[in-house]
Amino acid sequence: MAIPNKIFDCIIIGGGQAGLSVAYFLKRSKLNYLILDAEGNSGGSWLHTWDSLKLFSPSQYSSLSGWQMPTTKQEYPTKEEYLSYLSNYEKRYNFPIQRSTFVEKVVKEGELFKLKTNQGVFISKTVVSATGTARSPFIPIYPKIDEFLGMQIHSSAYKNSSHFRNKRVVVVGGGNSGAQILAEVSKVAYTKWVTLEKPTFLPEEIDGRYLFNQANEKYLKKKNTSNTLQVSLSDIVQVESVKDGLARNVFKDHRPFSSFYKNGVIWQDGKKEAFDAIIWCTGFRPYLNHLKKLNIIENDKVITKNTRAVKESNLWLVGYGNWTGFASATIYGVGKTAKITAKEIINSLS
Ligand code: FAD
Repeated sequence: MAIPNKIFDCIIIGGGQAGLSVAYFLKRSKLNYLILDAEGNSGGSWLHTWDSLKLFSPSQYSSLSGWQMPTTKQEYPTKEEYLSYLSNYEKRYNFPIQRSTFVEKVVKEGELFKLKTNQGVFISKTVVSATGTARSPFIPIYPKIDEFLGMQIHSSAYKNSSHFRNKRVVVVGGGNSGAQILAEVSKVAYTKWVTLEKPTFLPEEIDGRYLFNQANEKYLKKKNTSNTLQVSLSDIVQVESVKDGLARNVFKDHRPFSSFYKNGVIWQDGKKEAFDAIIWCTGFRPYLNHLKKLNIIENDKVITKNTRAVKESNLWLVGYGNWTGFASATIYGVGKTAKITAKEIINSLS
């Protein structure tokens, strides 16, 4: 619960990896800070991802600042192993976290922020928003989508393939989520894969660690590009499930259908095809609802310099996407931006 009249130096909204990373660097200061997190347990949105999910980099490249994830049994850590690491990370540094606390609204009162939550009002001099994207799944608009009678779910709600056994399923989305879910569902269902353009599979030896390092000149040369073009974080990493799907030749990509009808989709050439379900692996938008009252959201983003909001100088945004720093929405990448954020907060209060 909130403590009436207590003024924090900093409140971090969100206790996922981004929030914890900022806390790690704030902990070295004398600031009086608190993390408010909507979840009942540690782990952020990793608590809700699908059962078989594995990270796309080995443990040393899937670690937060200060403490490396213990080496895992297999090269790529499982979701459970990463959740356990996050929980131990919190315990190790004993961060002040109040859980099951959802920040509904942030408003400004004079120089202070008032955070209205389901557990009362909190007051702070500075705020870090680290609420991720998982609460804003994105589904593109297609004509007659409302007429489709089959099942539709977003990848954020996908757990495993059991609901799709012997069904006819379209998986939409050419990134890592689309490829991994298609690989799994295609084992039990008839599938079609819809992507905006031809998806890029990274060579087998390239995984998240190279994406972060941007060190793979060999691959860049192969792509016949200069070093200015970087391997994209949305290119598909060949984790085991994807390798397996490639071996089974399931990754036959189709360009988007033009519309829905009640039993399925209508392809660009006008042919109808019946489907039971659509799995939308079409990404996310930053979750910023709590900041609406500050009137600083433009095109689903807040204009920042590094991570600091340009129009609200005591507010920082960490995680979310490259607009808050290169790879800041990734485990390995968030530390760099978290460090700069903490430094700026400490300076602003001294
Ligand atoms: P989150 O983990 O979403 O944490 C945000 C926290 O804020 C949550 O606990 C949420 O409940 C809370 N919150 C939100 N709104 C409020 C509010 N208003 N009040 C209070 N609390 C709130 N990255 C990698 O580096 N390697 C990978 O292998 C990898 N695999 C991925 C696989 C998938 C399927 C996805 C979707 C992402 C993957 N990522 C990976 C990217 C990234 O690491 C994750 O998305 C990560 O969860 C982002 O962490 P975060 O802390 O920014 O957000």
